[in-house]
Amino acid sequence: MHWTTHVVAGAAAGYLVGSPVPAALLGFASHPLLDMAPHYDPDSEVGYVLDAATGCVAMSLLAANGAIRRTDRHRAALWGAVGSALPDLELLVKLVDRDFETESYIFPWHNGKLPHRQTHFAGSTLLQLALVLVMLRLIAGRVKKRRLRQA
Ligand SMILES: [Zn+2]
Repeated sequence: MHWTTHVVAGAAAGYLVGSPVPAALLGFASHPLLDMAPHYDPDSEVGYVLDAATGCVAMSLLAANGAIRRTDRHRAALWGAVGSALPDLELLVKLVDRDFETESYIFPWHNGKLPHRQTHFAGSTLLQLALVLVMLRLIAGRVKKRRLRQA
């Protein structure tokens, strides 16, 4: 699954939970579920670089955006995103060790023991985009409720 999808899904789950530790744990728990869902893994490095850059922008917004910080005082969205994004750090080993074997990854959803079905690029992209939009809609709904309560 795209790293950006993990970041947004973890942030949404964290925001909805509202507390940092449960947010991080829920974000972490969401990672294998998303990785085992049918999706497309690109063959080239370009897709991964674009995805990583987009995910970093999303993480930066969660960490530094004042509006987000005002509506998420405990930074639960950021912790949910961190919990969801962390497992993919092990994939960076391949950048420094080209001979690293995929079977040596720690997490079974990365090393092939819990595989996912490959789908077409378009279907995978649309599915992940829909998932991100649903997550953002859930956050927007929660933000609106909190604002109504404060008014
Ligand atoms: Zn992963």
